[in-house]
Amino acid sequence: MLKCPHCNTASFKRSKILKANWIFSTIQCNNCGKKSRITYFSRLIVVALTVVPFLIFGLILSPFDNVLVTIFVAILIAFTGSLLTPYLVKYKIEEKNAS
Ligand SMILES: [Zn+2]
Repeated sequence: MLKCPHCNTASFKRSKILKANWIFSTIQCNNCGKKSRITYFSRLIVVALTVVPFLIFGLILSPFDNVLVTIFVAILIAFTGSLLTPYLVKYKIEEKNAS
């Protein structure tokens, strides 16, 4: 599980990582209180696991004629992909607002 790059001991909660991944926000460590930001490369991983499958399924692979069903399933796929992101992404020390 993802650890704080500042103190390297406390690991972030998965729900916190998920939220930060979705909005590309910072995570504040419960242990040292310092903030970390997702790396640029990890953002690409998040996009590759969520937006890309969403578009591929929604535009190309959908077996459904119903647009609403297609969108619903595509969102489910994107959500499932996002559940994997806490294990794959890396966080770096946030330089700004590092107080
Ligand atoms: Zn920390």
